[in-house]
Amino acid sequence: MTSTDINHDAIIIGGGFYGAAIAIYLAKQRGFKRVVLIEREAGLLRRASYNNQARVHNGYHYPRSFTTAYRSRVNLPKFVRDWPAAVTQDFTKLYAIARRNSKVTAKQFVRFCKEIGAKIEPVEPALRALFEPRLIEDVFLVEEYAFDSKKLASWAVKELQDCGVQIRLQTRVTAISSGPNQILQVALKPEGGSEELLTSRYVFNCTYSGLNQFKGDFAGTQTGLKQEITEMALMQLPPALQDLGLTVMDGPFFSMMPFQARGLHTLSHVRYTPHMHWKDEQGIDPYQKLNQYDRATRVDRMVRDVGRYLPAVLDAKYVDSLFEIKTVLVKNEGDDGRPILFEKHTELPGCYSVLGGKIDNIYDVLEKLDGESFVLVETTV
Ligand SMILES: Cc1cc2nc3c(=O)[nH]c(=O)nc-3n(C[C@H](O)[C@H](O)[C@H](O)COP(=O)(O)OP(=O)(O)OC[C@H]3O[C@@H](n4cnc5c(N)ncnc54)[C@H](O)[C@@H]3O)c2cc1C
Repeated sequence: MTSTDINHDAIIIGGGFYGAAIAIYLAKQRGFKRVVLIEREAGLLRRASYNNQARVHNGYHYPRSFTTAYRSRVNLPKFVRDWPAAVTQDFTKLYAIARRNSKVTAKQFVRFCKEIGAKIEPVEPALRALFEPRLIEDVFLVEEYAFDSKKLASWAVKELQDCGVQIRLQTRVTAISSGPNQILQVALKPEGGSEELLTSRYVFNCTYSGLNQFKGDFAGTQTGLKQEITEMALMQLPPALQDLGLTVMDGPFFSMMPFQARGLHTLSHVRYTPHMHWKDEQGIDPYQKLNQYDRATRVDRMVRDVGRYLPAVLDAKYVDSLFEIKTVLVKNEGDDGRPILFEKHTELPGCYSVLGGKIDNIYDVLEKLDGESFVLVETTV
């Protein structure tokens, strides 16, 4: 093979939920044949697609971003339809509104839920009694689900195999460059191996936190990104809280969700979950930064604060923590919105960068891809 031959119809960089779903889409819906998926970890869906709060959003979380709330409402039923085995619905989901420091009042929250058409009901007294009334204005029963990231990973492995997508694990893409005749050249480095070059007309950069860490002709994303080292505590909850998911809105509060993949609950806190953050730039490898971070847990501070609002949490048992890089768009810092990033690189025609922001946004990405026309050419090996 020479670097002027095309040896793949598409090269997907990043074996998280997005890379896997896009590879499957190209193979199944768009007739791509030789598709390769390259992942630096030893398995698929091991990074953000595993280390997250597993919430299938239904809009409630986004009173400051109507578009994100609305898109969540549109996407949730599709997600439940397409991944029924990975979605858990059998828990009671509560949203509570804090009396102080909240960016939303109970009345405003109810109005917002009605505007986006999301179900919201008064909660029964026994559940309301879990919360400290001096700090919590109101509590509502809502409809929100959780996904099991292990099941999503099993789905990805099976579907990719069925579609004939080649998977290269423990392999890191280091550079993307443009070659002659609109061919893109992708340099990769398998762990313990020597550098290789793959070629294709199409490259999909689905690396989430790693989106800007390529050399070659890759100029980076136009959209500014913020990187955060985050901690979510994994808790064994006392019986009173075990069948619940709950979120206190909207400010420096907290959230607890079932984490099916470990049979535990995640506890996140707006003040303590983000440990540090920086503006993303080429050359500051977020994965390396996390590896070098000391990961001292802040669970004590989380539990102490949450215990003021929800005393039963003081009986929870801490198991361990999920540390991960969270990558968000700088422009959404104020409104907490989670739109997708979908960029076509003018310096590298045929190269796309994609960031989903949350799991159900996959439909927004696939909609964008539906609008793209792809030219498939004969590949050589
Ligand atoms: C703390 C936290 C809480 C969250 N909570 C929720 C939630 O409750 N609900 C929700 O819907 N979403 C949530 N999210 C967001 C959600 O996790 C992401 O939107 C989603 O997982 C992104 O999927 P992805 O495939 O783009 O990223 P990833 O799963 O991170 O996949 C990217 C992959 O690319 C690989 N990679 C990176 N660089 C390279 C390279 N150079 N070469 C080869 N491979 C590379 C990585 O190893 C990784 O596997 C949360 C995220 C975090 C961090």
